[in-house]
Amino acid sequence: MAELVLFWHRRDLRLDDNMGLAAARDRTSHLTGVFCLDPSILKGDAVAPARVAYMIGCLEVLKTSYAQAGGQLLILQGNPQEKIPALAQAIGANAIYWNRDVEPYSRQRDQAVAEALKAAGLEFRTTFWDQLLHEPGAVRTGAGEPYSVYTPFWRNWVKQSKAAPLPAPEGLVALSAEQTAAAQRAGCIDLPSAKDLGFVWENGFPVEPGEPAALERLGAFCDDDQAIATYDEQRNFPFVDGTSRLSAALKFGAVGIRTVWAAAAAAQGRSRSDETRDNIKTWQQELAWREFYQHVMYFFPELADGPYRQPLKNFPWVNDEDQFAAWCEGRTGYPIVDAAMRQLNETGWMHNRCRMIVASFLTKDLIVNWQWGEKYFMQRLVDGDLSANNGGWQWSASSGMDPKPLRIFNPASQAQKFDAEAEYIRQWLPELRSVDTGALVTGKIAERDRGDYPAPIVDHKIQQARFKDKYKAQKG
Ligand SMILES: Cc1cc2nc3c(=O)[nH]c(=O)nc-3n(C[C@H](O)[C@H](O)[C@H](O)COP(=O)(O)OP(=O)(O)OC[C@H]3O[C@@H](n4cnc5c(N)ncnc54)[C@H](O)[C@@H]3O)c2cc1C
Repeated sequence: MAELVLFWHRRDLRLDDNMGLAAARDRTSHLTGVFCLDPSILKGDAVAPARVAYMIGCLEVLKTSYAQAGGQLLILQGNPQEKIPALAQAIGANAIYWNRDVEPYSRQRDQAVAEALKAAGLEFRTTFWDQLLHEPGAVRTGAGEPYSVYTPFWRNWVKQSKAAPLPAPEGLVALSAEQTAAAQRAGCIDLPSAKDLGFVWENGFPVEPGEPAALERLGAFCDDDQAIATYDEQRNFPFVDGTSRLSAALKFGAVGIRTVWAAAAAAQGRSRSDETRDNIKTWQQELAWREFYQHVMYFFPELADGPYRQPLKNFPWVNDEDQFAAWCEGRTGYPIVDAAMRQLNETGWMHNRCRMIVASFLTKDLIVNWQWGEKYFMQRLVDGDLSANNGGWQWSASSGMDPKPLRIFNPASQAQKFDAEAEYIRQWLPELRSVDTGALVTGKIAERDRGDYPAPIVDHKIQQARFKDKYKAQKG
């Protein structure tokens, strides 16, 4: 009898260019996919409705892709440690495959599942680092240590040869009627909607869920003379559609990282000027930031729990709850900050430049613990990802590995530089549409023009000095 392999999908919601899945297909055509809706993730207090809706959308598309390839995707709900081995036994799977992950919870969960499978006498294979171009440990310092600083990491990382995309599995064989009935008895359910799971999201996505939409966006972004060719110049302007918006697709693996790299490399190959090549290189550096943060999360999992650098441990944050609420709701009286927070609240996505501005404002102007902001982002972001989000917040709070301690953004200078015509501010703060551009970017709005829009809740200069004093005192 042909061997049957169960492939457990987690953050790799696609068939194409999937390392573990391709290895499973090399072994057998009797290959069935499974996804487990895990209550310890879905019932947590840092879950974004946009993210759950995007994930469910990806699963719907994946289900169709499996059916088109002749196979099927099963859905479980519950503790993977119990559900995965029970399903594998029920359908008579010879082995279970999955791709590895860097996050502390995932690693601990995977270990528990592996032990349960071992106890049940089931074979499993989990050696695949699908979500990264280079697995943790593959890029090390001269002394053999993991990197803790980005720039040398990038220099070494970019030099390593990158694997080509893998083919999608074809000619799959679905479970027999008997096996399907057994799968149902083992707890398989129909794919619920996000609403069934308690999450309502009706505001759309930066890119529609699923592999075809992600590939289409990647193609359009990397096409000749498209955004990638001017990325370095355009990426900092939040009003311009100058970035790929692929972050949610990369988070859930709706697109394979080898495919993404190959598209950028092909654009490099086609480009006719050094200038274009430099723009594309800047985008590749962003992909390297993504890998850097995943590598450091793997080697320094304590990052997930708090500040890395000593001066920011036990920092005397002010933590004013009203000011934090004003930040969350986009009513701090700083137009660029409020516009960005409203973009986040309304779309589940925020431009990178603005993520840096609002993170600096929360930590250095409101002197609120960055972990409050980190959590709020996870409650809203469609692309919310532990490694990237934690990395971004620790960078902004000067608590991470980055050696530059006192990075403080001035919201007015940021707006003057990156939203000089206040187009972004006007888009997200419609109540201020008729206010002068100069007043919008500097934030100095006359009281008579303000209407219901609040006056600044703090003074940037005073707060900046206050933060510096606290920092110096901590440093001793
Ligand atoms: C405070 C803060 C929080 C952040 N939280 C997240 C998060 O939860 N999830 C997330 O994916 N990104 C996060 N970022 C990084 C970055 O803002 C987003 O990846 C980016 O805005 C997504 O838009 P894009 O897909 O158009 O990016 P592009 O500019 O097109 O970049 C391509 C891809 O590279 C990766 N990338 C780009 N910049 C970074 C970066 N600084 N760090 C890590 N990866 C990067 C992303 O996967 C992105 O999709 C955060 C940044 C900050 C400052």
